[in-house]
Amino acid sequence: SIVVVGSVNVDLLAQVRRHPAPGETLHGTGGQMLPGGKGANQAVAAARLGARVTMVGAVGTDAQAEVALSALREAGVDLTRLAEVEGPTGLAIVTVAEDGENSIVVIAGANDAMDAERVRAAREAIAAARIVVCQGEIPRDGIEALPALVTGRFLHNPAPVMELDPAVLRASDPLVVNQHEAGLVLAQLAPDLSAPTDPGAMVRALQTQGIASVVLTLGADGARVADADGIQPIPPAPVDAVDTTGAGDAFIGALALGLARGDDLATAARLASRVGAFAATGEGAQPSYPSADDTLPALQE
Ligand code: ADP
Repeated sequence: SIVVVGSVNVDLLAQVRRHPAPGETLHGTGGQMLPGGKGANQAVAAARLGARVTMVGAVGTDAQAEVALSALREAGVDLTRLAEVEGPTGLAIVTVAEDGENSIVVIAGANDAMDAERVRAAREAIAAARIVVCQGEIPRDGIEALPALVTGRFLHNPAPVMELDPAVLRASDPLVVNQHEAGLVLAQLAPDLSAPTDPGAMVRALQTQGIASVVLTLGADGARVADADGIQPIPPAPVDAVDTTGAGDAFIGALALGLARGDDLATAARLASRVGAFAATGEGAQPSYPSADDTLPALQE
């Protein structure tokens, strides 16, 4: 089974021709409230593909909480470890301009309650999981409490990157990062190193810093994986990308599913690459994720 420890948000979408300048008011369209948050996105992606998933996170006491949880519920994610805390649910205000460029304001809200104490309250579920997944949208001490509780694999996606105890970065197995995040993690682990920009050199440098396995995602170029079996390129799935929002989270959900059923890292990443590409062909994050029934056979061929 998979436990995801992370954020649960509502995404509020605004489509505009261009982003407003400071002090300016513009007309936009959209206004949809969709379930989001990196933690919830990854949990939904894995559950839609058939994994047994438990979400450890928090929502607020407002009406938005039900929107935030809607897709998790539909996908059958276990919500018994979910906390309800006084105040607002996490909110991301996403402005999408005509050129596809996003600008996002995230208000942590209830996600801020996921401190070490609350994470430890879920210790039984965490210890029982084959794969424990976390991201960077809960407080630092909540993330830093995890390695001591995990008995399976710690799938760590430090996004957004924050200052973390190096021991927590080195406990990642795998660490899953895009190129930007890889650069920031390397700068933390080896401030004196001039960071490489070539993908192969980047994963090698992360391994040299003591990280057992690494998955570097490369957008339309697929991914690179590195573990004890060596470094392998993971091919992209060619698609007509419509909206890449949440594609990285779909990739991680599928990667967790693969590892939970015993696939090796490269096999899990090949599935993840197809699922990430699929998610880029539909609008939004969770609404664009594939389900096992209709699409997984095609995704695995
Ligand atoms: P992030 O959004 O976190 O920066 P990436 O852009 O690296 O992550 O995308 C994550 C994964 O999603 C990629 O490894 C790939 O599998 C898939 N993906 C993203 N964009 C595309 C695209 N345009 N075409 C095909 N696959 C894509």
